[in-house]
Amino acid sequence: MSTDNIATTINCPTCKKPVVWSDESLYRPFCSKRCQEIDFGEWASESFSIPGTPATAEAIDDDMTQH
Ligand SMILES: [Zn+2]
Repeated sequence: MSTDNIATTINCPTCKKPVVWSDESLYRPFCSKRCQEIDFGEWASESFSIPGTPATAEAIDDDMTQH
């Protein structure tokens, strides 16, 4: 009855290699950690870099602990 046995395959955005969309593909939509880092590095260098990380969560947490 089930037709869900056919694995969904997508293409790695970095190297265009077919990647099986499953829990085993830890770096999906990328085929590997390397491709994930390559893609991340590219958009990080192409777009403006953000100095430091937003501390919104920490600020909220700090405010709650003071009270
Ligand atoms: Zn890849």
